[in-house]
Amino acid sequence: MRLLLVEDDVMIGESVLDALRAEGYAVDWVRDGQTAASAWSTESYDLVLLDLGLPRRDGLQVLQQARARRDRTPVLIATARDAVDERIRGLDAGADDYLLKPYDLNELQARVRALLRRAAGRAEPVFTHGTLRLNPATHEALLDGQPVLLSQREWAVLEALIARPGVILSRSQLEEKLYSWKDEISSNAVEVYVHSLRKKLGAELIRNIRGMGYVIARDEGADPT
Ligand code: CA
Repeated sequence: MRLLLVEDDVMIGESVLDALRAEGYAVDWVRDGQTAASAWSTESYDLVLLDLGLPRRDGLQVLQQARARRDRTPVLIATARDAVDERIRGLDAGADDYLLKPYDLNELQARVRALLRRAAGRAEPVFTHGTLRLNPATHEALLDGQPVLLSQREWAVLEALIARPGVILSRSQLEEKLYSWKDEISSNAVEVYVHSLRKKLGAELIRNIRGMGYVIARDEGADPT
């Protein structure tokens, strides 16, 4: 999953960045409203964490512009504890949820998980596919009841695919989930992670659709609704 963090306070930004990266998300961090607007309109994000009080352009304005162009990215706004009016304006401008500053990083992580889950059309907090269970809250993977150790980037590839069963993701779409701007991208990184996931979880789980990308089939045992 790839997140845009918009925060002008360097101390808050650094701790949030660490907390989100520890969860395995690729995070781009920008510190003013104008840069936020241009990143948001050119890159594809799974979620935007938006501070409202920003230099160069107000966070509310950035949000309104995104919604005006029908951008549906889930948005979590951060406001001061006593700024009730700001929070209401943010929600009415299209934010999906809010955090009160100073916020607890564990709560931030949980709200991010909840929004990503809802955005993918799911209510259940754990991914299941056959005998595989993935818990995004604990980063625990179980296959036939046995724990499987996955690296952060293996997890990121697997989570992106399992969140959209039956949907083919191209190599570049998967790369976007793995890397932020400043990371180096080796050309075969996705293949390498898919290969190691197949070794750990079985060759059948992730299918390679020639010339198109990768897919995890819909789980036949699962309720299609
Ligand atoms: Ca601020």
